Amino acid sequence: MYQINDNFQKLPGSYLFSTIAKKVNAYTQAHPEKKIIRLGIGDVTQPLAPAIIETLHKAVDEMGHAETFHGYAPDLGYDFLRSAIVKNDYQARGCGIEADEIFVSDGAKSDSADIQELFAQDVKIAVCDPVYPVYVDSNVMAGRTGTYNPDTQKWSNVIYMPCTSENGFVPEFPQETPDIIYLCLPNNPTGTTITKDQLQAWVDYANKEGALIIYDGAYEAYISEDNVAHSIYECQGAQTCAIELKSFSKNAGFTGMRLGYTVVPKDLKCGGVSLHDMWARRHGTKFNGAPYIVQRAGEAVYSEVGKAQLKEQVAYYMKNAAAIKNGLQDAGYTVFGGVNAPYIWLKTPQNMNSWEFFDYLLENANVVGTPGSGFGPSGEGYFRLTAFGTYENTVAALERIKSL
Ligand SMILES: *Cc1c(COP(=O)(O)O)cnc(C)c1O
Repeated sequence: MYQINDNFQKLPGSYLFSTIAKKVNAYTQAHPEKKIIRLGIGDVTQPLAPAIIETLHKAVDEMGHAETFHGYAPDLGYDFLRSAIVKNDYQARGCGIEADEIFVSDGAKSDSADIQELFAQDVKIAVCDPVYPVYVDSNVMAGRTGTYNPDTQKWSNVIYMPCTSENGFVPEFPQETPDIIYLCLPNNPTGTTITKDQLQAWVDYANKEGALIIYDGAYEAYISEDNVAHSIYECQGAQTCAIELKSFSKNAGFTGMRLGYTVVPKDLKCGGVSLHDMWARRHGTKFNGAPYIVQRAGEAVYSEVGKAQLKEQVAYYMKNAAAIKNGLQDAGYTVFGGVNAPYIWLKTPQNMNSWEFFDYLLENANVVGTPGSGFGPSGEGYFRLTAFGTYENTVAALERIKSL
């Protein structure tokens, strides 16, 4: 008789978004006349930029003619896209990354979940707390995280690096040395980031300890401050200790299109074995390429007109972020983030816990956000609002919160 991968049984239910949906449904049924404003989702709302739509149409037409039809894409991505990525995201920033170090994929979520396949069963991972849940859960499925303690909400074999207002949301080097360190900067859910110098210290630490950093740069396009790295490869020595994950979802609205890439430098070696070769082999065996038309759309993201349109789109969301941040501050809240990321992370008032504040906001302002405790134990007492709504809804939500 067959047996299942028991590690799946260890996963605690992810009740966060289903609990939110249930609570919102119950409220709207009891109060059908109330108009709910949702600032909880991590999905974009603006349509694809015109330059991208135009390119998509052209690519679709190409697929209708034998001479220009495209079948399977090259495993690692089309050269036109890998070249555009390297030129714009790396060479323009002085990073020595080359086109053949870019692995095009269908998004950063799958890459961030799959990358752990390269490592031994007994590696110890370190994550920020709170954190994007994929990093831990993918390691749980692989059987690497030990046992779960529902009281502390922690796994016995995971190193947690608390990021709270006490340390300015800057992860500190853990007491126990990790093998694999996940960093997402600018951060989801806290909306905060660290300086380039602070990131350099992490790169130096990883090289010294023989650890590997998995760097999730999904929110890079939202960086507005100087001295914040747009890529970990801006730091000296990162090519021997870091893998970088990037996505087209948040900078270009590709959440429904599916496109991302992972950088595995050729200098990244573990005991003489090239991680680049391993990931190429893994990609070639398990992945058949992102669609041609989507990769063409990705190329348009880097055209001059595409860049200008996307700059506006990011600015639109960041105007929302500023409206939320300033509005909450005016209303007396303690708020973080919203400067280099489309998330605002607020301290819940009057010692309410994250879920109490969720209920309070839903019932009194008819505004939906995300309880911070859903992202990890150190998220308790915090609450996330996103800037991905429309400006009108964002402003209306803030008016309601201010008048509470
Ligand atoms: C949204 C997001 C991603 C992007 O995932 P895709 O699969 O590319 O849509 C990756 N990491 C974090 C932390 C995110 O919030």
